[in-house]
Amino acid sequence: LMHLTRKLIEIRSMLLSIDKSDALKLPSIVVIGSQSSGKSSVLEAIVGHEFLPKGSNMVTRRPIELTLIHTPARDGKDIEEYGEFPALGLGKISDFSQIQKTLTDLNLAVPASEAVSDDPIDLRIYSSRVPDLTLIDLPGYIQISSMDQPEMLKEKIASLCDKYIREPNIILAVCAADVDLANSPALRASKRVDPLGMRTIGVVTKMDLVPPEEGTRILTGDKYPLHLGYVGVVCKLPGKQGRTESTAQVAQEAEKEYFRAHSEYTSNRALMVSTDTLRKRLMDVLESSMASSLHGITNAVQLELEEAQYQFKVQYNDRRISAESYVAETVDLLKSRFKEFTTQFRKPQIRAKLKEMLDERVMDVLEQLYWSDKRTAELTALANDPKVKPDTLEPYWRYKLEAASSLLTKSGVGRDSTLLVADGLRALIDSIAAGEPFTHHPRAAERLTAFSHAILRERVGVTADQVENCIKPYKYEVEVEPREWEAGRTEALGLFERELAMCEDKLRDIRKKVGGGRRLNSLIAYVRTLEERERQTRAPRDESEASADDSLVDDYRYPPAHVLDARHAMLYNERLNILKLRLAALKSKRCRAGPENDALCPEAFLSVVADKLAYTAAMFINIELLDHFFYQFPREIDSRLLYDLDRKEIIEFARENPAVRKHLDLQERKDKLEEVMKQLNSLATLRPDVKQQTPRR
Ligand code: GDP
Repeated sequence: LMHLTRKLIEIRSMLLSIDKSDALKLPSIVVIGSQSSGKSSVLEAIVGHEFLPKGSNMVTRRPIELTLIHTPARDGKDIEEYGEFPALGLGKISDFSQIQKTLTDLNLAVPASEAVSDDPIDLRIYSSRVPDLTLIDLPGYIQISSMDQPEMLKEKIASLCDKYIREPNIILAVCAADVDLANSPALRASKRVDPLGMRTIGVVTKMDLVPPEEGTRILTGDKYPLHLGYVGVVCKLPGKQGRTESTAQVAQEAEKEYFRAHSEYTSNRALMVSTDTLRKRLMDVLESSMASSLHGITNAVQLELEEAQYQFKVQYNDRRISAESYVAETVDLLKSRFKEFTTQFRKPQIRAKLKEMLDERVMDVLEQLYWSDKRTAELTALANDPKVKPDTLEPYWRYKLEAASSLLTKSGVGRDSTLLVADGLRALIDSIAAGEPFTHHPRAAERLTAFSHAILRERVGVTADQVENCIKPYKYEVEVEPREWEAGRTEALGLFERELAMCEDKLRDIRKKVGGGRRLNSLIAYVRTLEERERQTRAPRDESEASADDSLVDDYRYPPAHVLDARHAMLYNERLNILKLRLAALKSKRCRAGPENDALCPEAFLSVVADKLAYTAAMFINIELLDHFFYQFPREIDSRLLYDLDRKEIIEFARENPAVRKHLDLQERKDKLEEVMKQLNSLATLRPDVKQQTPRR
């Protein structure tokens, strides 16, 4: 039976760490009393040390969950006594004045606006002189409110105490002998929740301040009977105060002497006096209270455990996880997702992407050099005139072609193609970082993007230079094989046909929008007249034109948006005409004949150039940027993303994911409950009067 309280105290703190709900609480002793009733002195007498905050104003602002753990003396020698605040991680504190200071600091840390907090301070004291007990020290009741202790505070304390004096806790009601028990707020509070005094022990302090006849009368408890009775103590005798180690013993000796000196107390064996007696009484009461809660608590834990096991089975099919395994999984997932995406970055894909970019550029060059040149149309027409010899036009075309080729090769292909690929990679990483499970891990996602961007940043310059260097020869001369020429011509054809289709689509859309082809035609005619008029106003005007102006158009028929559409339509028409002309040229016999007619078919030629540029750029981007990135990225994941986390950070990381947190919580709850159940069952076998619970399945 020796270990019951001890074991149950352990179980109690385990249960508290699972769930703070009252249902699972094992009894503890709650100490209540009004200010100056001697409450602190009693607690300190039990512990044998001065350790509670002192001061004229109220200093107990948070409940103190005081767990006393008896550590048996070894070889007749006391083991060093020490205290511990498990939540603070300060380690063992053997200096009790340090404990006192820590408690004072913790109390003072409660904001003045709150005055009292119901967040308990967990303090454990290990000593061979203390019994196994759990005591909860609460702020003292305020009797009279004053300026610095307002009414609100009084109520706050009262409601905090009410929270703790519920079943199954044992109430230690501290009252001073020199104050009428009828005025004790502690007894009054206990009576409300425990009218028969079944779980209330009265502690009457300052017995030295009343004559023995009166003292014995109080302790018999005739006036306010308590089932568990009253214990009278003398914790501090005037003139014997101090704070040295031996004071506690001196005080106890003095107490013993006092009661010996007053035979009224010792002669009546029914009376309970002295701190020693109180200690034993508390142990007995707590133990029997715990023993009688054992049955109930075992049942309650069993139910909780079954529920947790059931949920674990249903929700997770009994699959156990750990924060570490989650981290490893996340890293694997990241790597495999990355690998999956890198297929988009193989050489052919890169080449195609670059070609697309360069094709667009070819179009720009053509537009700039050929299409916007009014002479192109004329000259093209001349070229098809059998009367004009091709040679007469050749130098002009040749000059044009060289200009076009250099415009294309010198347009910063190295930098732009490198950036295109780097941007693609960046977008890929960003999309991974923005997806599951990184949505739950913003800091890791940030790190992921930061280091991948850094790798890219570091490589982009080198790569761009390298690519630029390798395409240098094309800036001076491009040699074209017949096979390449044919390929370029076909591609240019395709490009133009697509462009043609696009223009036609746009025109169709505009026609539909303005209300048909005829309407569009009249809109265009209107725009033409507008343009004509504009030209004339810009030129010096004479009288006759000015009068003609006024009758020219009635503006109301054409809303401005449609006029704008008409202008667009005209541009598309112009382009369509050019495209048709060029398509005809590309399909012409001379163009089909081969590269020697390159000047006449700049489109085919530029397409070949674009192809060569794309091929070369892709090759060097692959070596300088992609190979490097694909090599570096997985290694950076290993070294920078998660593997430098310590155990605490790993758990924090895993718990950022709500699904994992839920899983871990339930698993931990189940594990703890299983452990508690095991302990409870081992206790039940210790005690024959407590039947072992057969688990209901
Ligand atoms: P608390 O405010 O309820 O915690 O009360 P304290 O333990 O601080 O005690 C209040 C006052 O009563 C202090 O001045 C103590 O010295 C004094 N006191 C406590 N116990 C005794 C006792 O047994 N006899 C006498 N005479 N005074 C005591």
